[in-house]
Amino acid sequence: MDTINKRERSAQLFQEAKQYFPGGVNSPVRAFKSVSGPPLFIKEGNACILTDEDDNTYIDFCCSWGPLILGHNNDAVREFVIETVKHGTSFGTPTRLGNQLGKLILDNNRFVDKIRFVSSGTEAVMSALRLARGVTGKNKVIKFEGCYHGHVDSLLVKAGSGLATFGVSTSAGIPESFAKETIVIPLDDREALVTALEKHADDTACVIIEPIPANNGLLLQDKSFLAFLREQCTKFNVLLIFDEVISGFRVGFEGAAGYYNIQPDIITYGKIIGGGMPVGAYGANNEIMSHIAPDGPVYQAGTLSANPVAMAAGYAALKQLLAPNFYENLSKTTSIFAKTIENYAQQQGWELTVPSIGSIFWLNFSNDSIFWICFSNERITKADQIQAAGMEKFKVLHHELLQSGVYLGPSGYEVGFISAAHDNASLVKALEAMQNGLEKVFA
Ligand SMILES: *Cc1c(COP(=O)(O)O)cnc(C)c1O
Repeated sequence: MDTINKRERSAQLFQEAKQYFPGGVNSPVRAFKSVSGPPLFIKEGNACILTDEDDNTYIDFCCSWGPLILGHNNDAVREFVIETVKHGTSFGTPTRLGNQLGKLILDNNRFVDKIRFVSSGTEAVMSALRLARGVTGKNKVIKFEGCYHGHVDSLLVKAGSGLATFGVSTSAGIPESFAKETIVIPLDDREALVTALEKHADDTACVIIEPIPANNGLLLQDKSFLAFLREQCTKFNVLLIFDEVISGFRVGFEGAAGYYNIQPDIITYGKIIGGGMPVGAYGANNEIMSHIAPDGPVYQAGTLSANPVAMAAGYAALKQLLAPNFYENLSKTTSIFAKTIENYAQQQGWELTVPSIGSIFWLNFSNDSIFWICFSNERITKADQIQAAGMEKFKVLHHELLQSGVYLGPSGYEVGFISAAHDNASLVKALEAMQNGLEKVFA
């Protein structure tokens, strides 16, 4: 494999960008703070390959942080976007394309009757929370440590220390009074859930969870925990929100709700739903959705919501996901890829596991040998089981992989994605780079 070491133009552009944007970026994790070197400035993506401004190429396992399940520059998506944009970019009116994407989604999803399109995952979650509060007339939200729900004020919150029941914010600029409306509990902990519900159900609108937590490592939950969560929410008369911004259309067209066959009350979508354009959505049954304006009293609006060009991209992308065996094939490819890395590491005695689900995988490093003995043969399900020290290993691997033309998301807490455009030759090449990179990590 070619050795890449020239990233001069990216470095120059990053210097320039720092004059325009805080930290040189428009979304913080792009700044490469958790890994070494300047961020790559990408000028082109085709199939599974990214090309940077220095003309280096990389096999991409970040896939724009998830949306590109079909890979970059998918023919049908590109052509439909071009066709659509010829007629104008935005009208601020309903369009036939909005109907088309809405119908495609609802005809193939047993878990929602109606949806509302918005422009990002954050906006979808923010709106879903307001809806849950509007429907129930209650205020508090229960969330799980290690689940990310976008930069919604009341969800940028972590568990308070000691006996504090309420959350403390993880960002400046969030009033304490907002954080106080959020209760944070550990994943995979039935007792904590029941305790929180017993104490707060009377003033709790909803419990929100990433049913496949994939923003802080990949913390796969037991189906039985999710089923228990469903049962308890019903019992305590609290709505259950599945935040499927990452898992929606990812582990199946019906996302995690379909994968586990669990009916939440509200589902949020983002990422894949827009085919690479800015789209989010939230959906529920007819009764719950009737609370949204203009039918009901919960206000929610958007100047560019259901923008026709974005709807075209979403439609052209999602249609391809309905092809027979699309998900089965992608999932098989991913699990073989993940298992190959994991088996290799275990043969060498290296402390690395590679959990995967659908087309998501995660490199889980751990250098605490007591921890390793406890968890090497077990899935980890809770945020506090992740050893921060493993992130140093990831940093070394990330650098080595960039040098050999493989791009992973720039943090050890990020998962990797395999798209339908990852061909066998690229995967074999990436595995080879991975083995060489791991040699350096564990040298
Ligand atoms: C990415 C993500 C969000 C935020 O979506 P944005 O489009 O970045 O605002 C929310 N929830 C989950 C589960 C996500 O993965």
